Amino acid sequence: MSGDVTVISGPTAVGKGTVVRALREGHPDVWVSVSATTRDPRPGEVDGEHYLFVSGAEFDELVASDGLLEWALVHGTDRYGTPAAPVRAAVAAGRRVILEIEVQGARQVKRRMPDVRTVFIAPPTWDTLKQRLVARGTETAAQMDRRLQTAEGELAVAAEFDHIIVNDDLGAAVEQLVELLGL
Ligand code: 5GP
Repeated sequence: MSGDVTVISGPTAVGKGTVVRALREGHPDVWVSVSATTRDPRPGEVDGEHYLFVSGAEFDELVASDGLLEWALVHGTDRYGTPAAPVRAAVAAGRRVILEIEVQGARQVKRRMPDVRTVFIAPPTWDTLKQRLVARGTETAAQMDRRLQTAEGELAVAAEFDHIIVNDDLGAAVEQLVELLGL
């Protein structure tokens, strides 16, 4: 599978979801993959729109049937993965495809599809990342510690990516992404 596929990754709470949402507002023609996850929905999250919320058994089945392009255990608790068939269909339809996933998944996609463009969204500083995670207020203290631990490891792999965008100002970050994508 080749085509125009961009993997957008980066540490937890860096704002990659926000960057992708803003990109999509300005460019509704881009196709953004909806991941499967075993985690519980947060308030306001809609099944099939934000994620496909599945049970552990359903996730096992997706893995066993080779239905995922990549998957990862995130923060040591929940599994997240990219359903392969919709990505294939979007590529076949000539769409510009975006995967917003964490770094372990980004590595797997790069291995399976060497032509993908990989973009790492980095926080301006480590403190900013911490503040954002606290400000989001959706995690307990234990969950937050766990996420910060994950983020520390994730920051170390930025150099593996084709491009790095520092998410200091949302508008500027989106503009850089638009330029990279040639939109
Ligand atoms: P959250 O629970 O905050 O929505 O997402 C947790 C992390 O999982 C984020 O870093 C997000 O990018 C990542 N993630 C979301 N979907 C996928 C996916 O399909 N595969 C992988 N590997 N990571 C994902």
